[in-house]
Amino acid sequence: MVYKQSLKNLLPEEIEAWVLSKGYPAYRGRQLAEWLYGKKVEGPQAMYTLPQSLRDLIQQEGNLFLTQLVNDIPTSFADSQKFLFKLTDGEAIESVYLPSKNRRTVCVSSQVGCALKCSFCQTARMGFHRNLSAGEIVDQVLQISRWIPENITNVVFMGMGEPFHNFESVAQAAKIMNHPKGLHISARHITVSTAGLVPGIYAFAELPYPFKLAVSLNAIRDDLRDVLMPINKQYPLTDLLKAVKFYTQKTHRRVTFEYVLLKDVTMTIKDADILVSRLKDLNCKVNLIPYNMTHAPYQMPDEEEILAFADYLQSRASFPVTIRWSGGRDKQAACGQLYTETKREEYA
Ligand code: SF4
Repeated sequence: MVYKQSLKNLLPEEIEAWVLSKGYPAYRGRQLAEWLYGKKVEGPQAMYTLPQSLRDLIQQEGNLFLTQLVNDIPTSFADSQKFLFKLTDGEAIESVYLPSKNRRTVCVSSQVGCALKCSFCQTARMGFHRNLSAGEIVDQVLQISRWIPENITNVVFMGMGEPFHNFESVAQAAKIMNHPKGLHISARHITVSTAGLVPGIYAFAELPYPFKLAVSLNAIRDDLRDVLMPINKQYPLTDLLKAVKFYTQKTHRRVTFEYVLLKDVTMTIKDADILVSRLKDLNCKVNLIPYNMTHAPYQMPDEEEILAFADYLQSRASFPVTIRWSGGRDKQAACGQLYTETKREEYA
């Protein structure tokens, strides 16, 4: 599929080059980038420092209206909030705003649907529709930040889709988010999460930006991971952990393993012991994610079981263990709960 070009696919210096190519001086490009990414205005006609002729040109060729917010938004943002966006071709994606004490995080989608068939995931039920452009990814943060009085501090690529299946657009979006004249979010506060696409991990390690890597691990035995995450048949655990080791050694950065807690499935003593031994030489931390109920035939563990597993693991592990108590579960805004198929029909 060929995407329409959009100015929101471009880094600030690329916007400057576009403006120059249209016969305007470079400083007009810097002004335009500031309107788009700094002031976050929606339409070109509000860019009052630009000449009318350039505003008209942007209106005709800039393709700035990539996502349209569809759901109702509350007036207070103390809790997690899901945002449903309609795209120009009628597809739909979801993003989540996650506030915490010191952070204001946006979880973005990188694809419409997903080609991977993780058995616990709502998005997997949609199948793969298409990749998002860099601009469509950036626009999720821009749109949400218009509703939030303070700056967005963190972005995680953990929404719909496998980011490394859409590597170029994801990398470009992360660069725009990080750029001082883009969204100016620290690279260390931008995290890309993969289900284990090994070539993507090697490519990510080569990017000259300190973006963070998370790996959705979820099982530490191939027989179980093959069932939960069929991508494991293509890139089994030995290959995955080798790639992660390469990433940590090349970048000197710690990787986060996300590990979903499925009652009686992934949280046995045996699993904890294997985690301890297989991850012991890696610069990593393990983030335990209690399962959020979806369509899948798994059970949520209760709090006592979660704490017992975490305590057992931490008492033996050389790496830190944390628990992510998901906000937004009641709004279907938690991990593995993003799904737009039926809603798309509702407003089409
Ligand atoms: S968990 Fe992530 S990679 Fe797996 S199907 Fe869901 S969206 Fe895709």
